[in-house]
Amino acid sequence: MMAEERSAPGVPAAVLDPFRRAGGRALMLGHVHPDADVLGTLLALGLALEARGWSVTYGGPHPAPGVLAFLPGIERYGRLGEVTGAFEVAVTTDCPNPARTEGLIEHARRAARTIVNIDHHPDNRRYGDVNWIDPSAAATGEMVYDLLVALQLPITPAIAMNLFTAIHTDTGSFRYSNVTPKTFRIAGELVAAGAEPALVSERLYERRGSDALRCLGETLARVRVSEDGRLAWLALPAGAVPETFVESEELVNYPRSIASVRVAVLFREQQGQVKVSLRGKGDVDVREIAARFGGGGHPNAAGCTVPGPLDRAVGDVLGAVEGVLGGDHVVLAARAPER
Ligand code: 5GP
Ligand code: MN
Repeated sequence: MMAEERSAPGVPAAVLDPFRRAGGRALMLGHVHPDADVLGTLLALGLALEARGWSVTYGGPHPAPGVLAFLPGIERYGRLGEVTGAFEVAVTTDCPNPARTEGLIEHARRAARTIVNIDHHPDNRRYGDVNWIDPSAAATGEMVYDLLVALQLPITPAIAMNLFTAIHTDTGSFRYSNVTPKTFRIAGELVAAGAEPALVSERLYERRGSDALRCLGETLARVRVSEDGRLAWLALPAGAVPETFVESEELVNYPRSIASVRVAVLFREQQGQVKVSLRGKGDVDVREIAARFGGGGHPNAAGCTVPGPLDRAVGDVLGAVEGVLGGDHVVLAARAPER
């Protein structure tokens, strides 16, 4: 967007305009492997528009993960093979790169009058007709909260649950460095509006299957730490543990939790490719590392997908991390964590 004309509270006027009409058709378009920030924001905005007489379609290239089945309205979201019909507006949230819609954005461009791109990733490609990018937001959930307030749309308990969960997960339960006073103010408003923090925590972290702790034990035994302790990683071969287990755990947080670690990496081999999750602490910019492999994200949390086999992916990515950390032979001197 060219002019940064502002409306209260900090939402550009061009973002508000497409939603000001009394009703219409809206498409809420998600990205690959949708997480709580994208799903919670699409559902929150969509449900609020429905309360104002809009007709809303929700979907994306992949279905919602089972762990998020508690999000109010999630049954409305599903895999979209194509986009049919005509829409006044199509919205993407938390989606920095149009390629992450796996081609659906091109359908949406043909079907919708206006594409609104709302995101907090600094590397957003600004592919919408209207682009609202705020890297200071801990989650896109904060931005959509401001949008609903600015539009004077209702914040029902269902909407509050969706936005609270978006913010809860993108901040690692309010633990990461992206958390600001505003994050807590918005979270407080959402709880006042009916979000249930204990229910969200219980659904996200207290619903493991009976086999999950055995999987976790097997998985954690694969964590490796560099000789100097600054790099830790976890490489999971295809089929080592069930996909549903990996999806319901933020496994990269375990290597990240070691005090000396500056960069933590999770490698997941799937269908001949390797999905890489990078986490950095302090001023290490892991987004820059992910970008070298065609990925992106935030300075402290980024990802990419690289070709297999697993060993080569691990060597290539750790080599790049080593370069950024400036260590010698960090990787080759890898050792298992002390027992
Ligand atoms: P995660 O490691 O949890 O999958 O992703 C962490 C962050 O990196 C998220 O903000 C996500 O958008 C970004 N990210 C993960 N994988 C990719 C990727 O393949 N490409 C891009 N551009 N960003 C990614
Ligand atoms: Mn996000």
